[in-house]
Amino acid sequence: MLSDFYQPPHRILLGPGPSMVDPRVYQAMASPLIGHTDPQFFGVLQDTADLLRYVFGTNNEFTIAVPGTGSAGMEASVVNFVEDGTKVAVFANGFFPDRFTEMRRRQRANVVRFEKPWGEVFGDDEAAEFVGRERPGVVMFVHAETSTGALQPAAAICEAAHRCGALVIGDCVTSLGGMPVDVDANGIDIAYSGTQKCLGAPPGLAPITLSAKALEVMRARRSSCVSWYLDLKLIDEYWGESHRYHHTTPITMFYALREALRLCLQESLEARFARHQLNHRAFVSGIEALGLRMHVREGSRLWTLNTPRLPEGCDDGALRTRLLEEFGIEVLGGFGPLAGKILRVGLMGASSQRQYVLLLLSALETCLGAGGAVQAAESVYSQ
Ligand SMILES: *Cc1c(COP(=O)(O)O)cnc(C)c1O
Repeated sequence: MLSDFYQPPHRILLGPGPSMVDPRVYQAMASPLIGHTDPQFFGVLQDTADLLRYVFGTNNEFTIAVPGTGSAGMEASVVNFVEDGTKVAVFANGFFPDRFTEMRRRQRANVVRFEKPWGEVFGDDEAAEFVGRERPGVVMFVHAETSTGALQPAAAICEAAHRCGALVIGDCVTSLGGMPVDVDANGIDIAYSGTQKCLGAPPGLAPITLSAKALEVMRARRSSCVSWYLDLKLIDEYWGESHRYHHTTPITMFYALREALRLCLQESLEARFARHQLNHRAFVSGIEALGLRMHVREGSRLWTLNTPRLPEGCDDGALRTRLLEEFGIEVLGGFGPLAGKILRVGLMGASSQRQYVLLLLSALETCLGAGGAVQAAESVYSQ
């Protein structure tokens, strides 16, 4: 009924995002608004920036969050660092490099791509060879590819890019807060993320950090950025000392992000990464006990987003409907070349918990008519 208060069903969110939200984050969101130019609110922004530097692993002065979801971070990295004709080298091994390429094409950038099948990653030498040959102005890669479950090492790409004076954009949407991103140690110039994956807040903000060199390029830019809303130079003036009005910041989302980041600090990143790794290992062990295989080879797998391959002839739509309706569990399927072939299971942030791993494995045992998964996972936990 339209007149009723909307009460969503209870769901366990184990898809590729959004993930579960800690009650403390919900509580923070219920706090009363203050104004976006209230000196008290600038304190909230300051705390958020400091905490973001911690999770990104950076000392970058420019570390903020822009309004919008992860794609807003992606778009900000496009519109602020590409002008007509900029040559952009994209490492393309999944869905998100394609979205990025589409954004670049709309900016009339000159895109060159290094393609690999979905689920594979780029080796250090071939990555360096590609960048050295193309000599682009900007290089883009996805650190944690949510469409495939693969982790792309960053260091070799960044080194090769810096040798030819290029800036590197790294998509850290599915790694930030769940796996080490190490922006400074890796040398990623422009790193962005989203709040609803491993950080454990609802969707609505896109954290972004710029290296000193990227900041210099941004500030020296002559032509104006084609997007007014995502113009980081203008947004920087609001975050900076002048606090010049740009847009009305989504206050409540900042309360949420600040609290979600505080939870990261309280747990410590080391413990948080260890938790994600352990739950991933237990899940994989359960999946293998069911006689299934992981799509990505060992050593390149994300701890945050798991992609088991489905048994031959399994109707993935029917399986996911059953998981949702009977067990209240949301997981998603594959798309593009992986449609119908894999499940995408997110164990991110507050969703990365032993009780959820065991519940999902037990539900899969029931749905697939197999056994042993829970027991296999338990034995990883008890090691
Ligand atoms: C989810 C995701 C995005 C896009 O984020 P939205 O919040 O859906 O806009 C971009 N890149 C990767 C790798 C993602 O997983």
